[in-house]
Amino acid sequence: MNNISPGQLNVSIEKTLPIVCESCGNDTFTQALYLRKVSALLTGTGQEGVVPIPTFVCTKCNYVNEKFRLNILPDLDDD
Ligand SMILES: [Zn+2]
Repeated sequence: MNNISPGQLNVSIEKTLPIVCESCGNDTFTQALYLRKVSALLTGTGQEGVVPIPTFVCTKCNYVNEKFRLNILPDLDDD
């Protein structure tokens, strides 16, 4: 059975590929957040809102890989 549920990938480590920093080649990352401000008109609550969008930052040089950047235009291309 190959049941893969979001957030809990049941895949053996040998079948995975490493992701390295495109800037320095380091292979560890830490989570960071983009914060997007939402105008009061859109939240419907009369107050400005903030939407946190998680991303990953290189622990060595703080570089954010292209893939982890916030793309304003939806990128529907699969890689
Ligand atoms: Zn780096």
